Amino acid sequence: MKRRTLDQSSKLKDVLYEIRGSALAEADRLEADGHRVLKLNTGNPAIFGFEAPFQIVRDMIESVPHAHGYSDSRGILSARRAVVSRYEEVPGFPHVDPDDVYLGNGVSELITMTMQALLDEGDEVLIPAPDYPLWTAMTSLGGGKPVHYLCDSDQGWEPDLDDIRAKITPQTKAIVVINPNNPTGAVYSREVLQGIVEIAREHSLLLLSDEIYDRILYDEASHIPLATLAPDLLCLTFNGLSKTYRVAGYRSGWLVITGPKAHAKGFLEGIQLLASTRLCPNVPAQYAVQAALSGVQSIEGLIAPTGRLHEQRDAAWRGLESIPGVTCHKPAGALYAFPRLDPEVYEIHDDGKLVYDFLVAEHVLLVQGTGFNWPDPDHLRIVTLPEARVLSEAIERLGNFLASYKQ
Ligand code: PLP
Repeated sequence: MKRRTLDQSSKLKDVLYEIRGSALAEADRLEADGHRVLKLNTGNPAIFGFEAPFQIVRDMIESVPHAHGYSDSRGILSARRAVVSRYEEVPGFPHVDPDDVYLGNGVSELITMTMQALLDEGDEVLIPAPDYPLWTAMTSLGGGKPVHYLCDSDQGWEPDLDDIRAKITPQTKAIVVINPNNPTGAVYSREVLQGIVEIAREHSLLLLSDEIYDRILYDEASHIPLATLAPDLLCLTFNGLSKTYRVAGYRSGWLVITGPKAHAKGFLEGIQLLASTRLCPNVPAQYAVQAALSGVQSIEGLIAPTGRLHEQRDAAWRGLESIPGVTCHKPAGALYAFPRLDPEVYEIHDDGKLVYDFLVAEHVLLVQGTGFNWPDPDHLRIVTLPEARVLSEAIERLGNFLASYKQ
C-alpha cells in the first residue's frame, strides 16, 4: 500500500514555541542517558518544590465526585462569580458581569480562542518584543500578522510608545500588553500604560492585557490593571492560577471582558462560539478557581523581602550582573530574568546554538532571547524558580562557559 505523506499543515509555518523547542528534546535525551539536567526553560513552580495551597487541593478533590459532567461553556457560575468578586476589589476596575467571564484550560487556551475569533488574513496585531511567544504564535495561527513593538531595555524594558505609533497601519486591530512581563520581569508605569491606552483610543484598537503575573511583584513595584485606565475601550484581561497559586498543571485561567461591547458583537459571539465548541474547560479545575479566589493565602509570603521568590530573584540578578559583559535589568515582577550578552564581548550569531552548546556542556537548559521574538541574538531567559543556591551555581557555570565560548 502506498501511504500518502503527511506534512505539517502550512498554517503552522510561523508557529514557534522555543520554550519547549529542540533544546528541550536534547535535555530529555540527556536525562534518558542518566544525566541530571537543570531545566530553567519553563515557569513551572511545582518542579522546583513549590507546593499547591492546601485549600485548593482539598476543594478540588472534594469537587471531583460532582464534577464529572460538562459545565456551561463559559465555566461554572460560582467560579465566574468568584472572578467577578476578585475584580470588584480592584479599585477602578470597570464593572464585570459573570457573563463577561470565560474560564479556560489555562490562559493559553483563552489566548488561542481570542485570536481565532478575532483575526482574518492580513489583520495586524501589535505584540511586544520581547514577548511571551504564545501571543505571536497564536496570532499567526489565527491568520493574522504579528507586528512587534520594541520594549526598551534602557527604560527598564517599558514599551516604546513612538515605536508603537510608527507601527500602526489601517490593518492594526489589537494591541497586546504583557504586564508584569515575561520574559523581562518589567512592571509598567502608569504613564506608559496611559500612553498605550491613548494610542488604542486614537486608532480604535482592541486591548489584550495578559496579567498572569499581576500578584508576583518585588520591592516597591505595583501593578496597574490596564482595564482600569480604559473603561471606555473594549479590553480583554487574561489571568489564572498557574503562577500566583502555583498550580500550573491544573490548567485553570480566565478571561474578563470590560468596556463597551456593542461595536464588537460579532467578535464576542465568535468567542462564545469557540467556547461552545470546546464544550467547557476541565470542570474540577474550575472548582480550584473558587477555592483560590475565596481568600487562600496566595503568594505574599514568597515575594516578601525574606521570601523565597524574592531571594531567588536577587540571587539570579546578582549572579548575572557579576558575569563580565552581561547586564540585566532587575526584574520587578514575574519569575524570569532576561540578561543581555554584550555583542562587543561575546560574538554570538545564533543564540539557539548557544543554548544548545551550554546545555550539552553544563546540563543547564535556558531559552534564547530570539525565542521571545527579540530581534538580536544577544539575550537569554532564565527562570528564577530554583532555590538561590542552585540558581547561583547555574549562573556561575554560565559565566565560566561564556568565558571561553566562541561561535
Ligand atoms: N501568559 C504568560 C505571560 C505566561 O508567561 C504564561 C505561561 O508561562 C501563560 C500566559 C500561560 O499560562 P497558563 O498556564 O494559564 O496557560
